[in-house]
This record gives sequence, C-alpha cells and structure tokens, in this order.
Amino acid sequence: MKLRVLGCYGGNIPGHGMTSLLVNDTLAVDAGFVSGALSLKEQVKVKDVLISHSHLDHTCSLPFLIDNNFSAPGFALRIHAIPEVIAAMKNHLFNNLTWPDFTCLPNDLTPVLKLVEITPEQVFVVNGLRIRAVRVSHIVPTTGFILEDSRGAIAFSSDTGPTERFWEVVNSVKRLRAVITETSFPNELHDLAHVSGHLTAALLGRELEKLEKDVPVYLYGGKPRHLARIRREVRALKRKRLELLVQGRTYRF
Ligand SMILES: [Zn+2]
Repeated sequence: MKLRVLGCYGGNIPGHGMTSLLVNDTLAVDAGFVSGALSLKEQVKVKDVLISHSHLDHTCSLPFLIDNNFSAPGFALRIHAIPEVIAAMKNHLFNNLTWPDFTCLPNDLTPVLKLVEITPEQVFVVNGLRIRAVRVSHIVPTTGFILEDSRGAIAFSSDTGPTERFWEVVNSVKRLRAVITETSFPNELHDLAHVSGHLTAALLGRELEKLEKDVPVYLYGGKPRHLARIRREVRALKRKRLELLVQGRTYRF
C-alpha cells in the first residue's frame, strides 16, 4: 500500500497542510489539503474519499477538489462516511449556501458527487482495499479507518481523545503494518485537549499502552504553533518507531 502524506497538521500556515492522506493515488483519507497538494492531473485520479468527521481541517478541500475538476472528462467523486458525517456535509457544506450541492450537478442522474453512507465495523471495498470504520472519541461523531490489502493493514485513528474500541479492533488486525494517530497539543494544554477530544504527548503515551502490536506509529494533527514542543515531548516518551508524519513523503506498507 502506497501512502502519500498530503497534509498532516491540525492547522494551516505556509508549508503546513491540514490532514489528508492519499492511498494508491486514487483514495484520499480525509481531505484537509487535497486540492492544495495535488496537481490537476493528480486530482482527477482521486475517485474516493473517506471522511472521518465533519471538522473543516478534515474536509475543507473537498469543495475545491470537486470545483476544480467538475468539467474534467470522467471526473466523479464518492465520499464515504458514517451517516452523521454525511448529514453534516449535506447540511453545512454542500447545501447551496456554503457551496453548491454537487450531488445533483450537473444533473440528478449523473452527479459528479456521491455521498455514500457506511456502517461502523462493516467491511466495504474501494479499489481493492478492504476498509472498516471504527468509532473513536472526539467532540463530534468520528471514525478512524482500517485499510487492508493482500499484504497488510494500516490503521488511522483520526482525531480522538483517549479511546477504547479503536485499539481493541486494531489489536485484532492480522498483518498490521502501522498505526497513524494524532497528537494535537503539548502537555501544558491538557485541559484544552480534554475539552476538544484530542491527545497530548502524555495522553498518547497512555493510549499506546493499549496497542499490543509491535508496529511503527506515526503522528499527525499537531497545531502549527506548538509543533516544536510536541516533537520534544513525543521524543521524551522514548518509544521506538514513533515519529511524526512528514508532509510530502510517500510511505509504503
Ligand atoms: Zn476534529
């Protein structure tokens, strides 16, 4: 599985895009920075997007991804998410106020956008990948995703505070190759992390005690203002094979 990091930060400043991973060139996992990171030629190849939750730092490039490619021959996008997230996108994003409702454009019969509801922990297949959504503990309905091909699996938690079910499911995955989870705030902002459903490095340390597999762990979601401190505090956990994702880098699992 080829995974290219389009954006891996919890905020946007020059050189720092918001959360979005591109798998095998055609599937985006969250969409905080798809249109900002990919050329038009690359954008047209994106056929499916998994959306973990409705927050803008995970969705904000969707309107431009569709608008940029609306007239490109053959372009059509499927967004897969749990019903609460689909409803939020219908009501607040593609609502003909914030942005056009592309689920009925250019017409109802062959729209450029399809919103596909998925059921947590039920496997669905996208371009040969077996995918499961698993609920995590954020302040809005949110799922992580487990993506599996014939060689192995990776698990992406998306935004979450301390959580249980995700780790249970991750521990049951055979041939797990890597976990991608978040660390948004430095330890001194523990209270903010708590009320906003995020992790600090210290909370991450406790979460990783729940992981029973010896696999590399990659982090995303750092707020740009606090990156240097987050990096220091993650290093101080002294866990082997624990590192921050690097924007622009392609990983193979
Ligand atoms: Zn969020």
